[in-house]
Amino acid sequence: MTLSTAGIHHVTAIASDPQRNLDFYAGTLGLRLVKRTVNFDDPTTYHFYFGDESGKPGTILTFFPWPNARRGRQGAGQAVVCSFAIMPASVGFWIERLVRYQVEFQQPVLRFEDERVIAFKDHDGFMVELVAHPTAESRTGWPGSGVPTEHAIRGVHSVTLWQDACEPTGDLLTQTLGFRLVREQGSIYRYATGDGGPGTIVDLRCVPGLWRGTSGAGTIHHVAFRAPDEAAQMEARAQLALLAYTVTPQMDRDYFKSIYFREPGGVLFEIATDGPGFTIDEPLEALGQALRVPDWMESRRFEIEALLPNIHAPLELHGPNA
Ligand code: ZN
Repeated sequence: MTLSTAGIHHVTAIASDPQRNLDFYAGTLGLRLVKRTVNFDDPTTYHFYFGDESGKPGTILTFFPWPNARRGRQGAGQAVVCSFAIMPASVGFWIERLVRYQVEFQQPVLRFEDERVIAFKDHDGFMVELVAHPTAESRTGWPGSGVPTEHAIRGVHSVTLWQDACEPTGDLLTQTLGFRLVREQGSIYRYATGDGGPGTIVDLRCVPGLWRGTSGAGTIHHVAFRAPDEAAQMEARAQLALLAYTVTPQMDRDYFKSIYFREPGGVLFEIATDGPGFTIDEPLEALGQALRVPDWMESRRFEIEALLPNIHAPLELHGPNA
């Protein structure tokens, strides 16, 4: 049994300053802030969700911005890089934009012969890539940011895990999560599911002997995979339990339901349902504008708002010098 439609649901990372995080992802990169909520386990801190217009599964990068978070260290046993999909014709636009916003980046390199990759880091050292490939056309970007629609980011392209040994994780991806090995280049093994387009790709990079990663600002907290519904999620849970994985009970994250487990290399994996999605508690046109808290926290809203750091809308519409 494998998940019938797998692929990436979202990637969640740790940041430090919430305003800089918002400015970078909603401003510089032009993603839509689709949900401004709190960390359900610590409501004195935010949880930001960035994505396309509606925050479809496969477009979402979320952050826990912890103002005093110490910087983590990238290393083995971690998901390390979040790559976003862009169209090949957008490479020049993005290079110009990164220069204008004073983001240091590496000159584009070719990967797997047909992908042009621009790599850079955010202010916490989080490793981000823009991957230019024609398959980005199959996804849509958020038209409401300061980035022209034709150049907008088309969702998450892939996530890269660094592993001391790649085989056990590869087996989990292929035998349980519905992926297939599609390509190899040097130390990178590419797994994909579905149409193999943006949001369906996991790259395993084998880094034997590399130091272990440590959690903190600039590192990925977990990677979530898609389950079309709760029945599929429960089937996956049963399958994982049979393979002796310790899987959490289902948790209600308001916008989806989640289960969590650690894959053999040590990365925290989640399986999240596609629904109900981000319009469950506010209309599509107003996503991300107001602070949302789960119903069971509403009675404490005043206190929660008082404890959260102040933030303002990102500067995307006027550019960095406005
Ligand atoms: Zn998650």
